[in-house]
Amino acid sequence: MANVLVFSETNNGNVKPVTLEILGKLTGQSIDVAVIGDLADDQVKVLAEYGAGKVHKLNGANLEKYSPEGYANALHGFISGGSYDYVMTGATSLAKDMVPRLATKFDAGMASDCVNFLFEGDTFQGTRPLFAGKCLAKVSLQGPKPHFITVRPNALGMPESPTAGAGTASDASVEAGEIRAAIKEIIASASEKVDLTEANIIISGGRAMKNPENFSILSEMADVIGATVGASRAAVDSGYAAPSMQVGQTGKTVSPSLYIACGISGAIQHLAGMRTSKVIVAINTDPDAPIFTKADYGIVGDLYKIVPIMTEEFKKILA
Ligand SMILES: Cc1cc2nc3c(=O)[nH]c(=O)nc-3n(C[C@H](O)[C@H](O)[C@H](O)COP(=O)(O)OP(=O)(O)OC[C@H]3O[C@@H](n4cnc5c(N)ncnc54)[C@H](O)[C@@H]3O)c2cc1C
Repeated sequence: MANVLVFSETNNGNVKPVTLEILGKLTGQSIDVAVIGDLADDQVKVLAEYGAGKVHKLNGANLEKYSPEGYANALHGFISGGSYDYVMTGATSLAKDMVPRLATKFDAGMASDCVNFLFEGDTFQGTRPLFAGKCLAKVSLQGPKPHFITVRPNALGMPESPTAGAGTASDASVEAGEIRAAIKEIIASASEKVDLTEANIIISGGRAMKNPENFSILSEMADVIGATVGASRAAVDSGYAAPSMQVGQTGKTVSPSLYIACGISGAIQHLAGMRTSKVIVAINTDPDAPIFTKADYGIVGDLYKIVPIMTEEFKKILA
């Protein structure tokens, strides 16, 4: 049995869903969870139900706002006082920024952006995409412990029935240490929608959207089916969509249950960010568009005709 610490980020006081995905896959291991800051009792209960034994709430000066140095120092201090074999967390923007720095402090190995993993005894084996998702590598980790692992949100899926457990919560005092690069402000996105990386359904538009206003037909469908709107880089570079909406190699990596690509050709750099989606639907006027080679369902046609029809049909079905 491995001793695992899962670091959980929070969003508006709630633990991020990827934490629960990881916990669900860790059944049989000894699991602690660490959060920075306070966590309400109901969230501690959720973590316990998904298998967390102890929930550690790490508090200290200069940790109110995220900073890569402060968080890495605080976690380094806390982890050093334990005997963890593995430290796991979601492969979020924050983790991509902070966890390599933390692993370096331990001179430890790291497997990033895993889309699956298992433990044989206390030995970790992970699967992670390489070369823009063209192949999947099996990874194991060697050298001093703890080893660090990040897991792509939505890749594992939510455990079906969490087992009720009786976890305990405790406070730990940690130090942020010297922070040379302070983050002054984090501006929340204007959209109320779930962040692309955590969205269960994404509808993305490409260069064929032609202008920012036309994205409203995607937003309309997104409102009906509870999706988040994404974009190709061509749409972003053309000023049709915000950079935060970009999916792909130089944008966000997503793994939703359903990805609907509208007027997107399917360049390798776009596929790199969305090819692990469970079901891919492509709408494109060009029957030879590469996106169709990756799509589970393809519709050859004009998105300006098809998207409104789909929206109306979804409205009827979901009414
Ligand atoms: C280093 C590097 C990094 C990159 N990173 C990214 C990245 O992160 N994300 C990304 O997306 N790209 C990225 N790119 C760019 C990528 O190579 C493509 O240029 C880009 O993905 C193309 O976007 P697109 O599919 O929207 O546009 P296009 O390739 O121009 O495709 C538009 C598609 O719309 C179809 N179409 C036109 N009109 C309609 C209509 N009315 N209805 C339906 N379909 C229609 C066309 O048939 C065509 O297939 C990167 C490139 C490089 C070199």
